[in-house]
Amino acid sequence: MIIKNAYIWLDGKFVKKDLCIKNGKFVEKCTIDDNIINLEGKYILPGFSDSHAHVLGVGIKKISLDLKNFSFETIFSSKENIIIGRGWEELPENIRILDEITKPIILIRKCGHVAWLNKNAQKELGFKDYLIYEDEIEKVWTLLPEDFYVSAFKNAEKEFIKHGITSVHSDDFHGLRFETLTKLLKTSKLRIFEKLYATDPWNYEFGEYGISKIFGIKLFADGSLGGKTAFLSQPYKNTKNFGKFVLASNFSKIVDFANKNNLQVCVHAIGDEALTRVLDLFGKNFGHRIIHAQLIKKSDFSRLKNFVFSVQPHFYFEDEEILKNISLNDVLFYPFKEMYNDGIKISFSSDAPVSPFEPKYILENAFKMGFSFEDSIKLYTEASGEIINEKIGKLKPDYNADFVVYNDKLLSSINAVFINGQKVYAS
Ligand SMILES: [Zn+2]
Repeated sequence: MIIKNAYIWLDGKFVKKDLCIKNGKFVEKCTIDDNIINLEGKYILPGFSDSHAHVLGVGIKKISLDLKNFSFETIFSSKENIIIGRGWEELPENIRILDEITKPIILIRKCGHVAWLNKNAQKELGFKDYLIYEDEIEKVWTLLPEDFYVSAFKNAEKEFIKHGITSVHSDDFHGLRFETLTKLLKTSKLRIFEKLYATDPWNYEFGEYGISKIFGIKLFADGSLGGKTAFLSQPYKNTKNFGKFVLASNFSKIVDFANKNNLQVCVHAIGDEALTRVLDLFGKNFGHRIIHAQLIKKSDFSRLKNFVFSVQPHFYFEDEEILKNISLNDVLFYPFKEMYNDGIKISFSSDAPVSPFEPKYILENAFKMGFSFEDSIKLYTEASGEIINEKIGKLKPDYNADFVVYNDKLLSSINAVFINGQKVYAS
């Protein structure tokens, strides 16, 4: 395939140049019998690559009903085979009329700690009551059939692609069976680099599934700032709470396994003390990844160059209120710009569905943080490939042919999206 007459993004600027594609990759030379696509006047960027998001989470959110304003009508009109709703505070008295619907209905309260099940859901999932609590709700995710996950995944896949995201370092292994996960990966048109959430990685098969692959292991070192569970070196203001360090006790065994099998360990660490401990525990096992790294002790900064990072500039602006509960000495807050200037390998990510996944949102917040347009594109495309040694994010020979065609130079409207040399979306 030859893409002709478009302006393509090369080394930080648009230039007019043809693109030759063979077997899903860009190649140096086109062949005469290649299929020619004329994209006169169009602008091409490498596809965006989100270095940390939850694809399935985005899909589940998308197919779940928002019950903030409870209405039977939204429930009755759902086309999903399993109806999941979230956000109610009080249920109407006649809620049991939902027993008449022959599909399972699961309605999760706003707090997330209580859920209501209709008769059909109780039967399907093996519960005996209308209301279930806490761990029972967690169990629901393991009981849901494959269909549910397929539907959620397909919804999310479509959303990411149509916004010009061609690959995601995803984290999806929550509740569903491993076989279901690999089936989703095998058929995914969106290129997924899966970080498997598991403390027993030796029980799973890593490697390629279709154009996707399971390349790493996802672990948590702490929680969130909002929940006051991110692990800090000083207590949260007016409390005695430091947050909590939750890293798996068999961490070193997991790192050994990862090193032997060429896998990347990706650790969620938000608080400064969590990061210190994770860096200590990694020791000389370099090249692994920290996700978030929002609070960094000045004394840890020089150690960062041995690791790679998935960061979210938008969190800095979203967390403004939460940060008022925190006072830390000699700690850098969201120093992503400093990290980048210092040559530390960072890449952008959304952490969707926690935050929006749309590139416009990620980029605008990166600009607000002081990143230039050129650097932001780089950190949201090729940098995401560099941190896992994958050839994505450049319109150059040997790189995967994942790219976005825009109608205009301002990148305001997408004309088409290609992944692995295939057109996967057209406006
Ligand atoms: Zn996340």
